Amino acid sequence: MTTMTPNQDAMIEKKPQADQPIPAAAEPRSARQVEPTVFEKSCPGARSVTLPDLDVAETPIPDALASTAPDWAEIGILQTVRHYTHLSQRNFSIDGEFYPLGSCTMKFNPRINEHAAALPGFASLHPMQGDADIQGALALLYQTRQFLEAISGLDEACLQPAAGAHGEYTALKVIRAFYKAKGEPNRIKVLAPETAHGTNPASCAMCGAGVITVPTVGGSIDFDELRAIIDREGADTIMALMITNPNTAGVFDGGMAQISKIIHEAGAKVYLDGANMNAILGKTRPADFGADAMHYNVHKTFSTPHGGGGPGGGPIVVTKELAPFLPIPQITESNGVFALDYDKPHTIGKVRSFITQFGIMVRCWTYIRACGPEGLRGVAEQAVLSANYLAAKLNDKYETPFWNSENGKYAAHEFLTVPKALLSQGVTLNDIAKRLIDFGIHPPTMHWPIKDCLMVEPTETESLETLDRFIAVMRRIAHEIETDPQQLAKAPQDATVNRLDIVAADRAPKVVFKG
Ligand SMILES: *Cc1c(COP(=O)(O)O)cnc(C)c1O
Repeated sequence: MTTMTPNQDAMIEKKPQADQPIPAAAEPRSARQVEPTVFEKSCPGARSVTLPDLDVAETPIPDALASTAPDWAEIGILQTVRHYTHLSQRNFSIDGEFYPLGSCTMKFNPRINEHAAALPGFASLHPMQGDADIQGALALLYQTRQFLEAISGLDEACLQPAAGAHGEYTALKVIRAFYKAKGEPNRIKVLAPETAHGTNPASCAMCGAGVITVPTVGGSIDFDELRAIIDREGADTIMALMITNPNTAGVFDGGMAQISKIIHEAGAKVYLDGANMNAILGKTRPADFGADAMHYNVHKTFSTPHGGGGPGGGPIVVTKELAPFLPIPQITESNGVFALDYDKPHTIGKVRSFITQFGIMVRCWTYIRACGPEGLRGVAEQAVLSANYLAAKLNDKYETPFWNSENGKYAAHEFLTVPKALLSQGVTLNDIAKRLIDFGIHPPTMHWPIKDCLMVEPTETESLETLDRFIAVMRRIAHEIETDPQQLAKAPQDATVNRLDIVAADRAPKVVFKG
């Protein structure tokens, strides 16, 4: 074997024979290489499938049905597999890396859930099969109902809503129907803290309810302020308070029972946005602090893969007095026989096709059964411990406005940092977020619920080693900001793509469909 000196190597690279330019395809493959579309890879005559010879007479398609064939890509099976594998490798995923995206509870999804959902007896069901045919599936849904009722402390669950936002909408419809039936149709206003998730006011608008924003102090609602708003608006016009607890500042609002009391005295209902249930599973029940209705984000709390836009699940649970208004059909049980009950005279009707997002409920059932009551409590304890560990280790460089161990102010399952000192060095929050990508860490939620904050949610599924690595990376970025802040503007440098124009990506997306 001959060895080349670095010089010879350089000569070969720099001096291609004049008549034979090195084709682009012979360039070294970089992680950044643009992956052509399948259409660009299309090669006339290439096929991924070969069909057997016809064993019947060929019959032409009738003219009335025939149209021009679409311009499909012609591509072989190996090229197809590589194409999609390359694309998937550019995706960021929880299976690959740490994903501390606050408010989204990006926890690991145990594979046993996927296994259960894929069992042929579940996966091959047809939604039009009769009740007698699907007793096992109905039993699973009925038990899921019971689990969700027990965890909330409320009386009756409905598994229909397809996501958290859909649950908000459904529950507001139920509450509105309740007040109409009660002869109080003027209750059409919903109070929501200024830190509410964007879906809260959107759901109110979808239901025709006006939203009254309630200011917060230190992330929490001030009692006197709340009373003043109710007086100003008129107690008999208030339908509900929509609140998240632990709240969106990552803090369990200790005043929640008192807040519920004020709302109930006004004759209105308390709606709990249950997106943050991961922090309190088995520790407290929303009914115990005054909730009359709530939704779960099954895909967050009970571990279904999410982040790509669905499918998810947003079951709701309500008190006895609201239950008659729940959507139909309800899953019922009598003498060990499960059925779908459509006979609910006060129902708001249907909010989706069929019964529920069935595969998601199988995952939810499996997760809850696998954990058991002690395991669910353990989830909350570990999630809260992990968040507080990070806050404690980072707060000298990354200020935590709602976390201060000396004052006994701790976080729930997530915490906010507003790194003022670092931001005063001329870097932006976006620079910090982009730099994290270079270390294979998904940036936390940014600028929500308050400006200039990062919202970090480690979840209970991450190991101490991963948490320590995150701490090390965050401290390193702080050091980079203190020593060479300009560098950060170029991040990410080691990702598939550099800094993208996110405004253009939002406002002028280039979506090409060829066919
Ligand atoms: C995620 C989330 C929602 C919305 O839930 P979807 O399932 O995405 O519709 C609502 N409120 C809070 C606080 C959330 O974090």
